[in-house]
Amino acid sequence: SKVRIYTLAKDLGVDNAKMLEILDSLGVSYKSVSSTIEEDTVGLIKEMLAEEAASGTGAATSTDTTEADAAQTPTPQNISSQNTPTQAAPAPATAQSVPQPAVTATAEREPEAPVNTQPELPHRAPVVTIMGHVDHGKTSLLDYIRKTKVAAKEAGGITQHVGAFEARTSKGKIVFIDTPGHEAFTTIRARGANVADIAIIVIAADDSLMPQTREAIAHAQAAKVPMLVAVNKIDLPQADPERVKTDLTTLNLVPEEYGGDTIVVPVSARTGEGVEDLLEYISLTAELEDLRADPKGSFSGVVIESRVDRQAGVLATVMVQEGTLHVGDFLVVGEGYGKIKAMTDSNGGRIKEAGPSTPVQVLGFSEAPASGEKVVSAKNEHAAREVIAQRASDRRDAENARTQRKKTLEEMMGPLGETRTVNLILRADTQGSLEAIQGILAKKETEDVKLNVLLAGIGSPTEGDVLLASTAEATILCFNVTASGGVKKVADTKGIELGTFRIIYELIDEVDRLIKGNLEPVF
Ligand code: GDP
Repeated sequence: SKVRIYTLAKDLGVDNAKMLEILDSLGVSYKSVSSTIEEDTVGLIKEMLAEEAASGTGAATSTDTTEADAAQTPTPQNISSQNTPTQAAPAPATAQSVPQPAVTATAEREPEAPVNTQPELPHRAPVVTIMGHVDHGKTSLLDYIRKTKVAAKEAGGITQHVGAFEARTSKGKIVFIDTPGHEAFTTIRARGANVADIAIIVIAADDSLMPQTREAIAHAQAAKVPMLVAVNKIDLPQADPERVKTDLTTLNLVPEEYGGDTIVVPVSARTGEGVEDLLEYISLTAELEDLRADPKGSFSGVVIESRVDRQAGVLATVMVQEGTLHVGDFLVVGEGYGKIKAMTDSNGGRIKEAGPSTPVQVLGFSEAPASGEKVVSAKNEHAAREVIAQRASDRRDAENARTQRKKTLEEMMGPLGETRTVNLILRADTQGSLEAIQGILAKKETEDVKLNVLLAGIGSPTEGDVLLASTAEATILCFNVTASGGVKKVADTKGIELGTFRIIYELIDEVDRLIKGNLEPVF
């Protein structure tokens, strides 16, 4: 039988870092502390620890573990108890498995002792996003965590929606992006920023994998963000978490019990069952990711969302990623800037400064910045203006270079060098999806092919769209919406291409195909 690494570490009273060190020295391969190892290995590890205790080298090897590491060492009690077959019978395990003398192991370990001599940056809290199919319980799960893990501050005060909140758990702070669904994720990513460190994929135990589940997984994978699966609604009589696990394997996400590395946590957003485990797994994953940031470094952050309040003016939620933000700082976003007049934390409390992994609502922008925009700070107004002037001039240079290149190409190649245009009509379920798609498309344009989005609308395509497509020779691409039978028929008779997609990247693939298909051969 097998045993999970962190479980074993806990049983043997060593921290995870130390356990991984031992495994490395034994040449045992693993993916993470949640991977399982063979029982044979357990015997070897025990031998090694015993040897070490006898020779008194134990203390020296674990000094590279920081205080924060030690404090964070995750040992989910209730989870580990289910998974420790070796715990009950440690003696036979050891007896069966001492094929090698411990001397070899000790000898191999020596060069590893001094690990990191550089001063390390402090840990920062993980930023988590919850994604999944509609109605699978994303909002309910966020609500439950907010209700149980966020300290109620100003009594009676209505907390404004700021797009993120901080949960306090026994293992430290976890920041949740409060916009369920993948829109926030894709919009932010489409602008080249990454805010989430960990993605929770919520799957209803009575529904299993659905189109948006697959899409959410695809997004997390594309962003290379580690995923945890929360199988929700386990309180329902018809819940079938085992089926969800089996279904996950079809997407190459193999749950741990099946020998894979995908962490699957059964939860109920209604009763709260399993939510504590989920939070522990988030902390565990965060520890493995070793998230760090320098609070003293220069500030950078990302806009999570923004809105215009009739009284207060522009309110933007910014996630601090590096450095520390202070009231009075000058911020530059795109080619605009603002001075922070006031800041509130996600609880609505006034704050003067905010360090890494803190979502703050900032008052002081003159125009609402778009979500996903990167934010940097400047020393003063003059410096802010300089940064903007530099950005504007860089942009103009790039534009000039492009027209210059085009001109010379045209001179050289005549009409063949002309730019061709791919006309598109985009239809999607939400504004966020549309923005995300357009953000990606904007980067697809080349010198030879222009992408011209004639219309980007929310909802199913209409007959009007088909007519527009036929006069403008456009292709209609739908994301998460479908055309009615009538509209399809009109498209058919007019010979209009009408594609429907559930995964953004498949839609983008189709655009790639259109771009290629539109290139005329150069003889
Ligand atoms: P979202 O669309 O993914 O945000 O899903 P919601 O959170 O709005 O939940 C959809 C429906 O499922 C609502 O009626 C919830 O009350 C219900 N729901 C969510 N979580 C649970 C759960 O754990 N158990 C049960 N029985 N119902 C749930």
